[in-house]
Amino acid sequence: MADDGLPAPDSHIDHASSIRYWNSVSPNVNGMLGGFPQVSRIDLRGSANFLAKLRRLLPGMPAGKLPLGVDCGAGIGRVTEGFLSNVCEVVDVVEPVEKFANVVLNGPLKKEGKVGDVYMTGLESWNPDKKYDLIWNQWCVGHLTDAQLVEYIKRCKEALSDSGVVVVKENISTDSMGEDIYDEVDSSVTRTDHKFRALFKEAGMNLIKTEEQLGFPKSLGLFPVRFYALRPET
Ligand code: SAH
Repeated sequence: MADDGLPAPDSHIDHASSIRYWNSVSPNVNGMLGGFPQVSRIDLRGSANFLAKLRRLLPGMPAGKLPLGVDCGAGIGRVTEGFLSNVCEVVDVVEPVEKFANVVLNGPLKKEGKVGDVYMTGLESWNPDKKYDLIWNQWCVGHLTDAQLVEYIKRCKEALSDSGVVVVKENISTDSMGEDIYDEVDSSVTRTDHKFRALFKEAGMNLIKTEEQLGFPKSLGLFPVRFYALRPET
């Protein structure tokens, strides 16, 4: 991290402006994925593969479906629908934007009981009061400042079942100076791999597995995407 005297990228994060941005976005897969809906299938398949590898690494995880997962920063529940509900008996949802949360609340998975509680709040103010087998965070933790992310991951650590895992799946900064990148469109930061690892460590988590999501068409010019699987330090 260069000490260039400039304000840290995450100091520009403004939750009200993020929520304003997301409220202007259509509640569909195209909106969730910033205009690249075609990557959804590859993304969901990559997540299923990553979890399968994790489970081989962690034989203590319950066999069969995991009893309780949570989709954090879930939007309209794309990940819940296409992945988490296949691998968890029940999936809770955390999403601050009401019009997205309502898609989940009014959807079939909620009626079938496959979606459990829906918490309409940002992750910076979510205080989990259950024990989860899987806490999935995808394309949303850039809305938290570094300090908020550390505190949030610490809360997640306390909200895991004995064999539970936190997964963070996020874009990674490709800045040539190795800095995080502030995006003023949705008021978020894209962090470097180095920064993620440092923040997870600060939160008292062990990085048990990390891997890049492969298979997105190069021609789209997307940021690299990386999975991080975290377990409490023993
Ligand atoms: N994870 C979903 C949605 C990604 S879009 C998917 O992969 O399909 C980013 C989501 O983050 C939006 O739903 C947006 O409303 C949500 N978000 C914005 N600020 C947030 C915050 N402070 N905490 C949690 N989620 C936030």
